[in-house]
Amino acid sequence: MAEAFLARCGLAPRLRYSIRFVPEVKNELGNCIFGQFRPSEQLAIVLGHGALMTLVKAIPRDDPSSVYRRLPAAELHYSLIVHEVGHAIVHQNLSLPPCRPVHEYVAGLLQVSSMSDASRRIFLESFCCDPFLSSG
Ligand SMILES: [Zn+2]
Repeated sequence: MAEAFLARCGLAPRLRYSIRFVPEVKNELGNCIFGQFRPSEQLAIVLGHGALMTLVKAIPRDDPSSVYRRLPAAELHYSLIVHEVGHAIVHQNLSLPPCRPVHEYVAGLLQVSSMSDASRRIFLESFCCDPFLSSG
Protein backbone atom coordinates (compact mmCIF):
# COMPACT_ATOMS: atom_id res chain seq x y z
CA MET A 1 0.00 0.00 0.00
CA ALA A 2 2.73 2.47 0.99
CA GLU A 3 4.83 1.50 -2.00
CA ALA A 4 1.95 2.00 -4.46
CA PHE A 5 0.96 5.31 -2.89
CA LEU A 6 4.48 6.73 -2.95
CA ALA A 7 5.09 5.42 -6.49
CA ARG A 8 2.42 7.87 -7.64
CA CYS A 9 4.75 10.59 -6.34
CA GLY A 10 7.79 9.11 -8.05
CA LEU A 11 9.12 7.59 -4.84
CA ALA A 12 10.01 3.91 -5.03
CA PRO A 13 12.12 1.69 -2.79
CA ARG A 14 15.77 2.02 -3.82
CA LEU A 15 17.11 -0.56 -1.42
CA ARG A 16 15.79 -3.78 -0.01
CA TYR A 17 14.30 -3.24 3.43
CA SER A 18 12.96 -5.64 6.01
CA ILE A 19 10.09 -5.56 8.44
CA ARG A 20 10.51 -7.30 11.78
CA PHE A 21 7.83 -7.80 14.41
CA VAL A 22 9.15 -7.40 17.92
CA PRO A 23 7.76 -7.49 21.48
CA GLU A 24 9.01 -4.01 22.37
CA VAL A 25 10.20 -0.84 20.65
CA LYS A 26 11.63 2.14 22.51
CA ASN A 27 12.54 5.56 21.26
CA GLU A 28 15.71 7.48 22.14
CA LEU A 29 14.05 8.64 25.36
CA GLY A 30 13.26 5.11 26.44
CA ASN A 31 9.53 5.41 25.85
CA CYS A 32 7.61 2.48 24.39
CA ILE A 33 6.48 3.22 20.84
CA PHE A 34 4.68 1.32 18.08
CA GLY A 35 7.52 1.06 15.60
CA GLN A 36 10.66 2.56 14.20
CA PHE A 37 12.65 2.56 10.99
CA ARG A 38 16.38 2.03 11.38
CA PRO A 39 18.10 3.45 8.29
CA SER A 40 21.49 1.92 9.06
CA GLU A 41 19.95 -1.55 8.86
CA GLN A 42 17.16 -0.76 6.36
CA LEU A 43 14.93 -2.32 8.97
CA ALA A 44 11.42 -1.39 10.03
CA ILE A 45 10.62 -2.78 13.45
CA VAL A 46 6.97 -2.90 14.46
CA LEU A 47 5.33 -4.28 17.57
CA GLY A 48 3.83 -7.69 17.12
CA HIS A 49 0.07 -7.88 17.35
CA GLY A 50 -0.09 -8.92 21.01
CA ALA A 51 2.46 -6.34 22.14
CA LEU A 52 0.62 -3.68 20.17
CA MET A 53 -2.65 -4.48 21.91
CA THR A 54 -0.95 -4.38 25.31
CA LEU A 55 0.57 -0.97 24.58
CA VAL A 56 -2.68 0.42 23.18
CA LYS A 57 -4.58 -0.68 26.28
CA ALA A 58 -1.99 1.10 28.45
CA ILE A 59 -2.62 4.48 26.77
CA PRO A 60 -4.48 6.72 29.22
CA ARG A 61 -8.00 7.52 28.07
CA ASP A 62 -7.28 11.26 28.17
CA ASP A 63 -4.30 10.86 25.79
CA PRO A 64 -5.19 11.72 22.17
CA SER A 65 -3.51 8.49 21.05
CA SER A 66 -6.16 6.54 22.94
CA VAL A 67 -8.17 6.77 19.71
CA TYR A 68 -6.21 3.66 18.70
CA ARG A 69 -8.39 1.72 21.16
CA ARG A 70 -11.38 2.44 18.93
CA LEU A 71 -9.86 1.09 15.71
CA PRO A 72 -10.03 -2.57 14.64
CA ALA A 73 -6.84 -4.23 15.89
CA ALA A 74 -5.78 -5.77 12.59
CA GLU A 75 -6.37 -2.52 10.76
CA LEU A 76 -4.38 -0.56 13.30
CA HIS A 77 -1.51 -3.02 13.05
CA TYR A 78 -1.49 -2.83 9.26
CA SER A 79 -1.55 0.97 9.37
CA LEU A 80 1.52 0.99 11.61
CA ILE A 81 3.39 -1.27 9.20
CA VAL A 82 2.48 1.12 6.38
CA HIS A 83 3.74 4.00 8.52
CA GLU A 84 7.19 2.43 8.93
CA VAL A 85 7.42 1.42 5.28
CA GLY A 86 6.72 5.06 4.48
CA HIS A 87 9.70 6.07 6.58
CA ALA A 88 11.86 3.54 4.74
CA ILE A 89 10.94 4.74 1.26
CA VAL A 90 11.20 8.44 2.11
CA HIS A 91 14.59 7.87 3.69
CA GLN A 92 15.85 5.97 0.64
CA ASN A 93 14.81 8.67 -1.81
CA LEU A 94 16.16 11.82 -0.24
CA SER A 95 19.84 12.64 -0.25
CA LEU A 96 19.23 15.24 2.42
CA PRO A 97 17.13 13.69 5.17
CA PRO A 98 14.06 15.78 5.98
CA CYS A 99 13.45 17.03 9.48
CA ARG A 100 11.50 14.68 11.72
CA PRO A 101 8.13 16.47 11.37
CA VAL A 102 8.31 16.11 7.58
CA HIS A 103 9.15 12.42 7.92
CA GLU A 104 6.26 11.93 10.34
CA TYR A 105 3.87 13.89 8.14
CA VAL A 106 4.48 11.63 5.15
CA ALA A 107 4.38 8.45 7.24
CA GLY A 108 1.26 9.63 9.05
CA LEU A 109 -0.45 10.48 5.79
CA LEU A 110 0.28 7.01 4.48
CA GLN A 111 -0.93 5.45 7.71
CA VAL A 112 -4.23 7.30 7.71
CA SER A 113 -4.68 6.58 4.00
CA SER A 114 -4.35 2.85 4.68
CA MET A 115 -7.36 2.88 7.01
CA SER A 116 -10.90 2.07 6.04
CA ASP A 117 -13.21 5.05 5.65
CA ALA A 118 -14.86 4.29 8.98
CA SER A 119 -11.57 4.04 10.87
CA ARG A 120 -10.15 7.10 9.14
CA ARG A 121 -13.22 9.07 10.22
CA ILE A 122 -12.87 7.91 13.84
CA PHE A 123 -9.18 8.73 13.82
CA LEU A 124 -9.44 12.18 12.26
CA GLU A 125 -12.48 13.24 14.25
CA SER A 126 -10.65 12.44 17.47
CA PHE A 127 -8.17 15.22 16.66
CA CYS A 128 -10.68 17.72 15.37
CA CYS A 129 -12.73 20.08 17.48
CA ASP A 130 -15.26 20.88 14.79
CA PRO A 131 -17.24 17.86 13.50
CA PHE A 132 -18.33 19.86 10.47
CA LEU A 133 -14.75 20.18 9.25
CA SER A 134 -13.97 16.49 9.68
CA SER A 135 -17.04 15.11 7.92
CA GLY A 136 -15.96 16.03 4.37
ZN1 LIG B 1 6.92 7.72 12.32
